[in-house]
Amino acid sequence: MDSPPDSLIEAPAVATRRAKVVVLAPMDTALDYLIPDDFDLSVGDHVWVPLGHAKVRGVVVELYDSAEAAKLKPVAARIDDPRVPEASLRFWLWAAAWTLTAPGTFLKGCLQALKTPKAQARHGYVRREVEALKPTAKQARVLELAVLPLTAAELAQAAGVTPGVVQTLEKKGWLEKVELSREGFAAPDPDHKTPSLNADQGAADRLLQNEWERQGFAPVLLDGVTGSGKTEVYLESVARALRDDPTAQVLVLLPEIALTTAVMGRLQSRFGVPPVQWHSAVSASQRRRIWDGVASGEARLIVGARSALFLPYTNLKLIVIDEEHDGSYKQEEGVRYQARDLAVMRAHRDGFMVVLASATPSLETLTNAQKGRYQWVRLESRHGTAQLPDIALIDMKTHPPEKGFWLSDPLVGEILATLQRREQVLLFLNRRGYAPLVLCRACGERMTSPKTDSWLVEHKSTGRLVCHLTGFSMKKPDRCPHCGALESLTAIGPGVERILEEVHERFPQARAEIFSSDTTPDADSSAALIKRVENHEIDILIATQAAAKGHNFLNLTLVGIVDADLGLKGGDLRAAERTFQLLAQATGRAGRATKPGRALLQTYTPEHPVMQALQAQDREAFYAYEQMSRDIARFPPFGRLGAVILSAKDNGLLNRYARELALAIPNTEGIDVYGPADAPLSLVRGMWRKRFLVRADRNRDLQGFMNAWLKSLKAPNAVRVVTDIEPYSFL
Ligand code: ADP
Repeated sequence: MDSPPDSLIEAPAVATRRAKVVVLAPMDTALDYLIPDDFDLSVGDHVWVPLGHAKVRGVVVELYDSAEAAKLKPVAARIDDPRVPEASLRFWLWAAAWTLTAPGTFLKGCLQALKTPKAQARHGYVRREVEALKPTAKQARVLELAVLPLTAAELAQAAGVTPGVVQTLEKKGWLEKVELSREGFAAPDPDHKTPSLNADQGAADRLLQNEWERQGFAPVLLDGVTGSGKTEVYLESVARALRDDPTAQVLVLLPEIALTTAVMGRLQSRFGVPPVQWHSAVSASQRRRIWDGVASGEARLIVGARSALFLPYTNLKLIVIDEEHDGSYKQEEGVRYQARDLAVMRAHRDGFMVVLASATPSLETLTNAQKGRYQWVRLESRHGTAQLPDIALIDMKTHPPEKGFWLSDPLVGEILATLQRREQVLLFLNRRGYAPLVLCRACGERMTSPKTDSWLVEHKSTGRLVCHLTGFSMKKPDRCPHCGALESLTAIGPGVERILEEVHERFPQARAEIFSSDTTPDADSSAALIKRVENHEIDILIATQAAAKGHNFLNLTLVGIVDADLGLKGGDLRAAERTFQLLAQATGRAGRATKPGRALLQTYTPEHPVMQALQAQDREAFYAYEQMSRDIARFPPFGRLGAVILSAKDNGLLNRYARELALAIPNTEGIDVYGPADAPLSLVRGMWRKRFLVRADRNRDLQGFMNAWLKSLKAPNAVRVVTDIEPYSFL
């Protein structure tokens, strides 16, 4: 080959060290920066980088050398926060792409805890080995006490002096300032208190051990009726993980805080130390401490709600997802994600075990187990002599309650008999407040939340009308705001408060209380209520789903489901599945000990497959029916779904953009797009809403399709576009 003319030969460029940085801002890609010579950077480091005229925070996601000419700015500074372990960082970036979220936005969420500064090191003072020349009486008292390091405040208080005295002693060189040890994370002891598993549990544990020993990705469905000892069994897997590798970290995911309290106690007695808790009620300074502790590997056993999945684990080896079917694993605000699915992906990416525990698995998980994708470990019976309750349907068409009442004669009779035996009753109605709808008898006006399509729910305990969607509330007016009629607003339908009213009227001697998120807003109040039930200070507990799971009430022998049909209305994809799971859980509260339990379901549709399956206690029949109907429609788990929710203040603009977006739908085999349709809640807080639903065959790239489609038509600034992969809410 001829050599090129001299003028075309480029001077040999010198390779420079560069970094790709994801800045914590809604940008689609990482940005390139030069690394100054005196910088030592690693992937996962936090940095300040120039962006336009500002300096922004970011995380280094890649280091490389390049000689390619490019106008790059240098990294401004490294931030002294714990480096994000690489496996966690890669997972976060993957999860961002999976949920169609800008990587910087996703990382910002994962790094929230770092906004709180690290706790300052605490200092204490201790006596120096020098002779103090002529100390005052006060000083002498302090010196006498300062044999072990104490803080200035502690010393001053103990000696009855002001903290100034301590400072003076330090200046004189008679006291030495030392750093007090930080509050660390006690190491869990896998052999602290080993249980004696029964035969079934032992067999299940051996299956789990086999999976564990294969080392690698091992998804397991731990499937057993409530009370069979799933928790006992998975605790052994936790112990195994902690024992096998002294640096291993274990995450136990729980659907809600109320349940955390119960499981926390069991973990503590099993492993000798309280596990690290991570959920919405944990304070910002604790979050910071935990974040750092997880990143350093010191925190090894973490129990938390869905967001605990995004802590910066250094060596995660096992995830347990308790009550894996629970809808609260789906995050519905901000970045929308399904923590269960992402947890399985985390285990898959890094090759470790994930245990999904449930008495009523999600259809997705059950199908995976049936197809052999997950190992299926079953516990068939309750521990000890406890039996599953006997379940009967009450046909409300034949036993209509009296006007203004909601409990039918057969249920009332059974409650009376239970009370006479001095046993406890749970009445289940998954509806907070007094009445779900308030309307005017004079003009028919329905009370709704301002600029929102949702009904106001009457709460008699506070005298207010409350919107459960937006949180709006108002005092219940005397007059109809529409027609002005006096005392015309009428409560329609029952909530738990109204059932309590009926219970007081029918069983005046019985001690009754409500268990809902209104009466037990935090872990302490729910623990206190649970104690009162356990101590039999309550005869009749009227509960929403807050009480349906997890708790073992030994003297509770009757469960009455006030409105079994409730969850079936509204007709979203998982309505039947959710109803089945919730009612199976709720009826499972009866007869947890030696006394036999009974559950009565009030229904207007006793012929519905959900009711039939519940009555026959034939879970498989229900799942088979539900799988068949989903399969016909190619809905999850036989297909995949994605939703696009558009909202805007200007309804005309929204409609125009929705129409244009509909015209831009790419024609792709195996993918269907439905919509745009008005969202069932078409107006929320003054924003109009429209939805698209995307259905894709399982082997299609749903995210790729949605990305290409949405990027093809830029949304006006005034239109908000939210995407939801595997939506659970269709409102
Ligand atoms: P699940 O998680 O399946 O609902 P749990 O693990 O909560 O079941 O067990 C139900 C109850 O039975 C708990 O109170 C638990 O302490 C008790 N239990 C289960 N297995 C055993 C066992 N092998 N020895 C002693 N108690 C057990």
